[in-house]
Amino acid sequence: MRISMVSEHASPLATLGGVDAGGQNVHVAALSSALAARGHAVTVYTRRDDDALPERVPLCDGVEVVHVTAGPPAPVPKDELLPHMGQFADELAEHWRADAPDVIHSHFWMSGLAALDAARRPGVASPPVLHTFHALGNVKKRHQGSDDTSPPERSLLEPQVGREADGVVATCSDEAFELIPLGVPSSRISVVPCGVDNTLFSPDGPAEPRTDRFRIVTVGRLVPRKGVGTTISALARLAARGHDDVELVVIGGSQGGDAVQTDPDVQRLLAHARAEGVEHLVTFRGQLRHEELPAALRSADLVVCAPWYEPFGIVPLEAMATGVPVVATAVGGLIDTVVHGVTGVHVPPRDADAIADAVEGMLAEPAQRVAFGRAGVARAAVRYSWAKVAADTERAYRRAARAQAGGRPERRAHAGRAEGGVRR
Ligand code: UDP
Repeated sequence: MRISMVSEHASPLATLGGVDAGGQNVHVAALSSALAARGHAVTVYTRRDDDALPERVPLCDGVEVVHVTAGPPAPVPKDELLPHMGQFADELAEHWRADAPDVIHSHFWMSGLAALDAARRPGVASPPVLHTFHALGNVKKRHQGSDDTSPPERSLLEPQVGREADGVVATCSDEAFELIPLGVPSSRISVVPCGVDNTLFSPDGPAEPRTDRFRIVTVGRLVPRKGVGTTISALARLAARGHDDVELVVIGGSQGGDAVQTDPDVQRLLAHARAEGVEHLVTFRGQLRHEELPAALRSADLVVCAPWYEPFGIVPLEAMATGVPVVATAVGGLIDTVVHGVTGVHVPPRDADAIADAVEGMLAEPAQRVAFGRAGVARAAVRYSWAKVAADTERAYRRAARAQAGGRPERRAHAGRAEGGVRR
C-alpha cells in the first residue's frame, strides 16, 4: 500500500522532550518504519518549521518525510496552528493529485481536519482516511479547565473529524469509551496501542552510574499534567517516613545539557522540591536523546508515571521493555499497559500518599521488583512490539478500505452532523 501519514505539528524527525514533542513524534516515526518493514511505501507530511529544511527527507528505507509549507517556516505552538490548516490542506491536495495514496492516516485533530478537507478536493482520488487523535480536547478541558490553551473551535471540530473519518484508530480502550459519546460509531473504531522499540529499550546494555540510594526515575515533558510535582511530593512523604535514601531523577524538559536550569518548568519543579524540603534528593537531567534513555532507565529501581490523565503514555512501556517496574496512575492508556500486581502498581491520580505507599511497598520487596521487571519485558515484547502494532494498524486500514468499497452511503456528506442512532 501507498500510505500517507499526516502529522501537522509532530515531525518524526524532531528532538523529543520539549513542550510539543513527545509520544506522537515517536508513534508516527516508529509506526511508519514498521509499516515500511511490512513492504508499504510511507510518506509523512508534516509542517515546515524551519526555512532550511529540505522538502523531502528520507527517514528510513520506505519512509519519506515531506515538509509542507503552512504558516511561518518557524516553530509555532501547536495550539496556534489552526489558522494554517487550510493552507496545509491545499498543499496536501496538491501532493495527492500528483501521487495518489491508497490510504491516509492522520494524527491529532488538526491533521484530521486538513486530511479530510484535502481528500475531498476535486482531482484527489479520495482513499479511506483513518484518524488517531493522540489526545482529546474534551478530556484535556475536563482536567485542565481554563489552563487548556486549545483554540475554542476544537470542541466542535475534533468530534467532527471522528465522525467523518472512515476509521478511528484509538490507542487504548479508555479512549474508545470517550469517543462513543462524541458520536463516533463504535463500528468504525479500532483499538491499536502505541508500541515500543524493544531493540532499543531492553534490559541488556549499559546502565548509567548510580548512587547507593534507591532511584526513582520519571521521563517526559514537564508540563504540569504529567504529575512530576506529585512525584516530588511523594518523595517528601517518603523522607518524612524515614526513607531519606530515595532519590528522584527527572528526565525531560525543553532544555538539555548545561541549559537545564533555564527551563521554566525545571524552575517551577525545583521551587516545589525546595518547598517540600527534598531539593537535595531531586536531579533534573533535562532533555535526553531517545537513544540515551535506555541506559538511564537501567539505572532505575523504579519508574513513576503520575499523569493526571494520559491519552496513551509510551514511557511506561519503555520502562517495562527495559525491565523496570512501574508505578503508574490508573488513567488512559496506563490502565491497559501496566498490569497492577504483575508489571507494577496502579495508583489514583494526584495522590502523593498513594505513590509513597506504592514505592514503600516496593522498597521492601526486591524480589517482587525483579518479578515485575521480568513480566514487563515479556508483556512489552508480546503485546507492544511495533511489528505487531503495524500489523494491527494495517488490518484497520484494510477494514476501512473494504467498508469504503462496500459503500458507506453517507461518506463525507454529513460534515458537522452526528449520525442518527450511533449515540449510546
Ligand atoms: N522522551 C525522550 N527524551 C526526553 C523526554 C522524553 O526521548 O528527554 C521521549 C520518551 O522516551 C517517549 C516520548 O518522548 O518516547 C514521550 O511520550 P509519552 O507518550 O510518554 O508522552 P507525551 O509526550 O506524548 O505526552
